[in-house]
Amino acid sequence: MPALPLTNFSRLAIHTMTNKPWTLAQCIQAYTHANVPAITVWRNVIDPIGAPAAGKMLADSGLTVVSLARGGFFPALEASKRQEALDDNRRAIDQAAAIGAPLLVLVCGAVPGLPLPTARSQIRDAIGQLLPYAQSHNVKLAIEPLHPMYAADRSAINTLAQARAICEYHRSPFLGIALDVYHTWWDPDLEKEIQLAAQQKTLLAFHICDWRPNTRDLLNDRGLMGEGCIPLKHIRHCVESTGFTGYHEVEIFSTERWASDQTQYLEQIKQAYLTYS
Ligand code: ZN
Repeated sequence: MPALPLTNFSRLAIHTMTNKPWTLAQCIQAYTHANVPAITVWRNVIDPIGAPAAGKMLADSGLTVVSLARGGFFPALEASKRQEALDDNRRAIDQAAAIGAPLLVLVCGAVPGLPLPTARSQIRDAIGQLLPYAQSHNVKLAIEPLHPMYAADRSAINTLAQARAICEYHRSPFLGIALDVYHTWWDPDLEKEIQLAAQQKTLLAFHICDWRPNTRDLLNDRGLMGEGCIPLKHIRHCVESTGFTGYHEVEIFSTERWASDQTQYLEQIKQAYLTYS
């Protein structure tokens, strides 16, 4: 059964990093003007103005804040660095609470030279240490599995099953999974894992973009929806058939797009969203 076509923007959210050249104020102004109802805020746009000011701007805007991106980067060779990471994640939780974001997205981290199984245990333990703090601030944590091409230095959590295992271990209502199609579309267990996550009540976020088969850069050449080979409608159908009613968050890192006119690009995003997502 295909997904129902998208006919409006009521579930559309955009990550500020998608429009990287813009400040938070510019993103807020452009999204509200374009009738985009929701936003995921990256920390780099908060840093110049501080979380209280960012929180006030967002509250005044009427935009729904879906999440704060991002925390994580937990594993390290030295204990002191792991402690620094925990401290930074507590600051991220503070920021999330200050801007009204109910969710902090975690890019869990990996370090060359640290065996992946060790990195995974460090990630699991760090999340356990953070959870009480997250709960006390009413901010959920979402583990975002990253494509295995990032296993060397960005995330030792590369599949939905690995993320689910950590959720299973902690069993906290404040811990779940952010599903990003860029990282997971290839997974032979994708459909099954979406269902399992939903059963576990841990499917917390849904990020969309596309995978260009002729990708020129593994980080900053994500495609606009429809430009690549990800079966977006199928994946959305899988996600929504579990009862997921959250936002479809457009998260595109693209050097090419960042160099273009961002206002025109926003219109292209909206069109691509309705046509291909
Ligand atoms: Zn993502």
